[in-house]
Order: sequence, then C-alpha cells, then structure tokens
Amino acid sequence: MTSPDLVLVGSYDYLLVGLSVLIAILASYAIRIRRGISELEVAKRELQRKATFVELLQIVAVAANETTSAEAALKFTIDRICEHTGWPVGHVYSSSQEKKTELISSKIWHLENAAQFETFRQVTERTPLAIGAGLPGRIAESGKPAWIPDINRDPNFLRRKVALDLGVKGAFGFPVLAQAEVVAVLEFFSSNIQEPDQELLTVMSNVGAQLGQVVERRRAEEALREAEARHRLLVEQLPAVLYVAEPGAEGEWLYVSPQIESMLGFSPAEWVADPRLWFRQVHPEDRGVVLAEEKASQERGEAFHCEYRMLARDGSIVWINDAAALVTDAPSGCPLLHGVLFDISERKRAKQELARKVEELGRSNAEVEQFARMASHDLQEPLRMVASYIQLLAQRYKGKLDAEADEFIGFAVDGACRMQQLIQDLVSYSRLTTRGKALNLTRAEVACNSAIENLQESVEESNAQVSVGTLPEVFADARQLTQLFQNLIGNAIKFRNERRPEICVAARPNGNEWIFSVQDNGIGIEPQYFERIFQMFQRLHTRQEYSGTGIGLAVCRKIVERHGGRIWVESQPGKGSTFLFTIPQTEGVEK
Ligand code: ADP
Repeated sequence: MTSPDLVLVGSYDYLLVGLSVLIAILASYAIRIRRGISELEVAKRELQRKATFVELLQIVAVAANETTSAEAALKFTIDRICEHTGWPVGHVYSSSQEKKTELISSKIWHLENAAQFETFRQVTERTPLAIGAGLPGRIAESGKPAWIPDINRDPNFLRRKVALDLGVKGAFGFPVLAQAEVVAVLEFFSSNIQEPDQELLTVMSNVGAQLGQVVERRRAEEALREAEARHRLLVEQLPAVLYVAEPGAEGEWLYVSPQIESMLGFSPAEWVADPRLWFRQVHPEDRGVVLAEEKASQERGEAFHCEYRMLARDGSIVWINDAAALVTDAPSGCPLLHGVLFDISERKRAKQELARKVEELGRSNAEVEQFARMASHDLQEPLRMVASYIQLLAQRYKGKLDAEADEFIGFAVDGACRMQQLIQDLVSYSRLTTRGKALNLTRAEVACNSAIENLQESVEESNAQVSVGTLPEVFADARQLTQLFQNLIGNAIKFRNERRPEICVAARPNGNEWIFSVQDNGIGIEPQYFERIFQMFQRLHTRQEYSGTGIGLAVCRKIVERHGGRIWVESQPGKGSTFLFTIPQTEGVEK
C-alpha cells in the first residue's frame, strides 16, 4: 500500500514539470513578442521614413507651386532635401540653352557650411560638364537618378580631388525633366560613404518630375512676361499712338498708348475716360472728312485711312495720319477700330515749304525770263546801233588815224560783236521753255542731219568726218533736238586737236529710254570739270584758244531736261570726249 505522502510527492513533481513547461512556453512567447515588438519598431521606423519622403514630396510640390521663379523652386527643393536627408551639400546644374550638349553650373546651392565648401563651389561653378561626364552628366544622359556610394571608387567623377580634400564621399543626384527633356540636374553630397537608398531615389524621381512641371510653367510664364514687356516697350517706344476704339464721333476708346500725351497733351486716362474727347479735338474744318471716311470704310468693310488736323491741349495744330483696321469679330460683339496715329506735322510742313519754294522758283524763273526778253529787246537795239556805228567808224577811218586808233577801233568792234553773241545766246536759252514746241514723234536722224547741215561750213573747214548711226524716233521738239545735236557736234569740231576730227553719233536702247552719244577724238576734258561745264558761262579755255560764250552746254542740259532725260560726259584728256544724253521712250514726259 502507498502512503498518502508519497502520493502527494508524486503530484508536486507533476506540478513542477507542468510549471516549467508553462514557463518555457511563456518564455518562447516572450521571445516572440520581443521579436515582434522589434519588428514592429523597424516597420514603424520604415513607415516614418516613408512618411517623411511623402511629406517631402508634398512640401516640394506645394512650395514649388508657390514660388515665383524656377530658380526659387529649385533652391527651395535642394534646401528641403538637404534638411530631410541630413546631407550637407546640394547644388543645381542647368542644361545650356545654347549648347544642348553641355551642363552649366548654376549659382543655386545649399551649403551647410559655406566656408568649408567654398573651393568646391568655385571649382564646380567653373566646370561646365559634357553630357555623360561626371555625376550630373551621367544623369543628364540617362534621364535617371544616380548614386555614388564612394566618390573615391568612381572613375567618372571629375571634381574628385577637391571633393575628397573636403571629405566629400557619397553623392547622388536626379534629373529635372520637362517634357522628357532634362532641364536641370540636382546633385547632393555627403561626408560619409552612403549605400544607395532606392526609396530615396524613387521619391527624388517624383520630385524631379514635379519640379520639371514647375520649371516648364515658370519658364512659360517668364517667356510670357518677357514678351509682354517687349511688347509694352515697343508700344511705348514707337513714335506713334496705338489705339483701340469704337468707330464714330462718340465711340468709346478702350485703349490708347502713352504717346498720346506727348502728341496731343492729354493723358491716356483722360482720353479713355471721355469718349467725345477725340472728336472734339479734331480740327472743325476736318471733321466732315473724318466722319465721311469712317463711314466709307465701314461700308467698304475695309481699313480706315485719313489725314487730318487735331488740336493739341495747348491749341497747337498737329497733323495726324490715322490708319485703322476695322475688327468685326471683337469679343464685345461691336466692331472695333485697331489703329495707329502718326504725327505727320513735320512732313506736312516740309511739303508746304516745298510747294512754296516751287512757287517761288516758278515766279523767279518767270521774272528771269521776262528780264531776258526785255534785255533781248531793249539791249539789242542800242547795241546794234553801237556796233554798226563802230563798224562804220572802222570802214571810214581805218588807216587814216594812227595805228593805236586802229587797234582801239578793232577792240571796240570785237567787244560789240561778242556782246551781241552773248545776248543772242541768252535770249535763245531763255526761250527754250517759253517758246518750246510740244513734244511730237520726231526722227532723231533727221534732226541730227539738219544740225550737220547747219554746221557745214566748220565741217568743211576742219575736214571733219561725221558719221551718224541709226537713230530712233523719239517724242521731242524737233527744233530743240536739232539745236542739241548742233551744239554737241559743233563743240566736238571746235575742241579738236591736231588730229582730223572724227565724230560719231549713235543711240542705243537702255530700259525704257534711249541713250544718245556724240563721240569725238578731240582734246578731252579733265574729270573734275565733268559737272561744271554744263553750268552757264563755265568755260575751260580763253577766248584766244577757243571762241565761245559758255552757254552751249547749259542750253543742251535745259533741252534734255525738258524732254525728261539726263546729260553727262565721259572723257579722257588728250584722247577725246563722249557726250551722252537720254530721252525716254514713252510719250508725255515734257518737264
Ligand atoms: P563754249 O563752247 O561756248 O565754250 P559750252 O557750254 O558749249 O561753251 O562748253 C563749255 C566748255 O566745255 C567749253 O568751254 C569746253 O572747255 C568744254 N567742252 C565742251 N565740249 C567739249 C568737247 N567736245 N571736247 C572738249 N571740251 C569740251
């Protein structure tokens, strides 16, 4: 039989075994719980890290949207990334606008310790990178983020020496992509060797895309602002007034550019505020014309164009050239004039001045001609008397007085003859316009041949050879054309040298005119006199050398100009001269 103690002892043993099993089970649970807790901790930290990244992404997105420039958005982003990652250096490279194959360092930096990284900053800012070169170049080439755990072990890191000197070790960067194009690269540096953090790189890719949109938007805004500024500058610098207004005497003025103030003395605000101001300032005498043109342009459905006078604020008169297009599909629904006002007062004044001068010239020409007519009549009469009496004196007393008296009489006869010639030349010059005949179809060859006939005496005397090519029919005053040829051929004979004069008259077409030429082999003319010889009384020789009054070529010029042409000379001293003149091929050119 077993004692109860023994039974009891046996039950304790079981209890102990049970307890120790329980404890073991509990211990294993505790280990698992502890492990669970630490796993939970890791997960929690991981979650926190991810939350931090998401938060970073959000901050960047919100703030980037609020910044006014792309530069400010980039600066804000690198500051936040450095704050979140604890990396001490952040920097931006931008793609070169000119050279698409290059990255240029921007001046956008995050430097935890500016003094420490000063040399690195300077070297970086001096170093443009080719696409593919260095960390930023690689990122720009691939369009993807990149990570360098240890700069020392990376063969493609161009600024390695200075970076290592400063204790820079790890680096990563990512691109800013705008429409799949890398517009910038953000790079970050750490003082420790850092293993790649895929999570960070993924988040940064997203930040890069966000920033890309911002950069694109800001650039578009900047371009718009620049275009607007350019446009405003253009409008403000233009020496004219631009406007948008409703048509009619009381039409609203929606816009007028600032030059209205300098043009008429009213500010743009005054102008726009009072729809009647414009018409009130139109000169009363011109109002009818302006309204009629407005109406006509509306009916035609075409541009409005009118020149009229306006009264400036100070009462002065300003001539305006107003040109406007009628825009019928304006947003407001009612047609609008988009126009420009030019101040043409100066032009008008110049035109009036010109008209006045022309009138004055006409008057003085008429006076000169009248004088010449009178001179021809009034002077010729007494001169004829003086000349004939002196000639009488010469006939009767030659050889009867002393030799000196004979000489004096000779001088007097010569002087009187020259004066007669001068007066005759002057008279014929002044009659070129007043007695000129209408321009009719004339055979130039006939005119030329009659000129040669008139010169028969001197042709024979000089044994000149005059050849005339085929000459055209032209609209001319036949008598004047003959005189023109006569003067030119006469000169060609007169200004000969020891050679036998060879004169050649020809004509050739040139566009819508004929060029006539009279060529000789005479003494020629120095180039400095080419212009002068066509002026009245301009001669290059004394009367003893060659006779003449110096009017012949002035007559030629006047005849040619009356026929709507030009005259000039080409010559080589000692070899000969060619006088050329043009006559238009068309009718009705008389001047
Ligand atoms: P004039 O023959 O009465 O002197 P012109 O007006 O006909 O006056 O000519 C002006 C000057 O031009 C002449 O004095 C002469 O010096 C020069 N000249 C004109 N024709 C010729 C020519 N064919 N060859 C050389 N010189 C010429």
